[in-house]
Amino acid sequence: MHLSHPLLKPALRRGWHDLRTVQFGAAPAHAVVLGPIDTATGSFIELLDGTRGMPLLREEAHRMGLAEGYADRLVGRLARAGLLDDTTGGGPGAAALRERPAALERLRPDLGSLAVTSREPGGAMARMGARRASRVQVRGAGRVGATLAAVLSGAGVGQVDVVDGGCVDPGDVAPGGMPARAVGERRTEAARKVVRQASPGAARRSRKGPRADSGEPGLSLVVVAPRDGLGAFAPDPAAVEQFVSSGIPHLFAGVLEATGMVGPLVLPGATTCAQCVSLDRVDRDPAWPRLITQWRASRRRPSPSCDLALATTVAGFAAAQALAFLDGTLPSAAEARWELALPESAWRAVVLSPHPECPCDAVNSPDRAREPGESPTLSGEGPPRSAPAEPVRATMAKSR
Ligand SMILES: [Zn+2]
Repeated sequence: MHLSHPLLKPALRRGWHDLRTVQFGAAPAHAVVLGPIDTATGSFIELLDGTRGMPLLREEAHRMGLAEGYADRLVGRLARAGLLDDTTGGGPGAAALRERPAALERLRPDLGSLAVTSREPGGAMARMGARRASRVQVRGAGRVGATLAAVLSGAGVGQVDVVDGGCVDPGDVAPGGMPARAVGERRTEAARKVVRQASPGAARRSRKGPRADSGEPGLSLVVVAPRDGLGAFAPDPAAVEQFVSSGIPHLFAGVLEATGMVGPLVLPGATTCAQCVSLDRVDRDPAWPRLITQWRASRRRPSPSCDLALATTVAGFAAAQALAFLDGTLPSAAEARWELALPESAWRAVVLSPHPECPCDAVNSPDRAREPGESPTLSGEGPPRSAPAEPVRATMAKSR
């Protein structure tokens, strides 16, 4: 592992159990306990603040009487324990972001979070660089869609396009989403402003590379967040056929009749798609085709029932799923629909399996991550980290 200027992840608070045992991080999901360590090692790790390169750290270790090669071994172990970042790491995307100090300051808490969740040094900046280069389309500019688009933009996604028809309705207004002054404006226009205002600063466009012809990056993800939550509860396969056929990942999110829904995240050909969900419903309920036809065709449009707090929760949770996907992990909404029905406040997962007769053929995908019926968890599918209850102890005793 190459490290230029290592630093102990500043987002993890440090606490000593005793003179020889130190814990990095307080929240159990990401905390790591190291020990036993001696005084010289304890002093040496204090030098890992990102201001010193490896040659200087080797000199300092020598001056402290630590054995030859010790600095490299210790830094390597700390890096493997997921405790180190690198002030100059992260590749070209990170280098471009470092040229935007104002955007970097805005994104500092997001980078801190990415540092906690990514193991490799420089991983936070590399992931943020990838977010900045990605393009997401949000379909729907209501309470869920506009807020979700703003969150994605604010969290560093380089390009967020919102697609919707008509004009902003007073009921679309939401803190974090459509402002009251946008009422009456065209939804697409108003959403564009919301996205721009939420952005920490435009990413510098590359003039070279595969995007040069179109001038725009391809879609990394589409979020289907219709104002009428029926489109999230019972996704119309025809409405997303273009994304299935072109292999574009898409995520459903919405609120229907006081129930918030996030998922499934469809990776065409690999995970459960809208058609799979539809076929499965027909198998389970012979009346489903009649019901869905009436619901979709109904001339009497039901009055909206979209609680503001619920819509904001759904927007935030869907954005977290979208960002996890853009950051390179398979989020828990792959092959599941998370539901939160008021007045309860607990999410539950409805597991959605690929249908054997669906032309998407996800049922035969070799990439399928989960066995049918296995429930995903809210904490996602990442590798388990050590926690104080079951600490991973790295022996740090120095060799003189
Ligand atoms: Zn399918």
